[in-house]
Amino acid sequence: MFANYHTHTWRCNHAESDERAYIEAAIAGGMKILGFSDHTPYPGLASWFRMEVGQAPEYFQTVRALRDEYAGRIEIHAGVEAEYYPAHFSELMDLLRQNGCEYMILGQHYLDSETDSLYTANASADDGRLRRYADEVEEGIETGLFTYVAHPDVFHYTGTDEALYRAQMRRICQAANRRNVPLEVNLLGLRMGRCYPARRFWEVAAEENCRAVLGCDAHYPRYLNDPKWEEEARRFLAQFGITPEETVPLVAIG
Ligand SMILES: [Zn+2]
Ligand SMILES: [Zn+2]
Repeated sequence: MFANYHTHTWRCNHAESDERAYIEAAIAGGMKILGFSDHTPYPGLASWFRMEVGQAPEYFQTVRALRDEYAGRIEIHAGVEAEYYPAHFSELMDLLRQNGCEYMILGQHYLDSETDSLYTANASADDGRLRRYADEVEEGIETGLFTYVAHPDVFHYTGTDEALYRAQMRRICQAANRRNVPLEVNLLGLRMGRCYPARRFWEVAAEENCRAVLGCDAHYPRYLNDPKWEEEARRFLAQFGITPEETVPLVAIG
């Protein structure tokens, strides 16, 4: 894979290894651009699956030091994967800007500032939750601050209203097009047989001519050097006539 912008580290409590191990795996796999996007620290929220606010300076400093050390061998970027939670978002942006964060990808793992404690990839037949997911992702895209949408199809809708599902996903696709934001085919979901990437989502994305990008969502270094799942992801997208973009211009958050 030429570029990957979706990489985690040990700090989020559910990924392994430090940055150097990810960088070495990426280089071994022939990668030329590697973006770190660990689960963002979120002021006002202390979820188990993200680093703490106090860890932000060390995270960004570490990635920047390695970017300089590896210059000429691989291009490295320091970003985060973040949910869009309006009540905490301006505080988040202050924190990220203070720390020199280069880019954000939007990964809506929970709804409503995590007061709704159900992971969006857990089965839900609730039409209202489905609508809120689309509302929040659309609003997040409309901030113009996200480089791309990670697993836009993470919401695991098991309700009976298929037309509603498609209409809500179409809103996300159309918002992405308005803002010229690519949508990610998530290699972790594919590898693990999760609900995403979701065929019915990508049928809609194809109808809307959305831009697409592959994301390793690496929680282990070896996932950065794994041609099998890259190939699977390309085959998955090809079914819908979609070719992923090899690089994505980072949206500066400053
Ligand atoms: Zn994760
Ligand atoms: Zn991720």
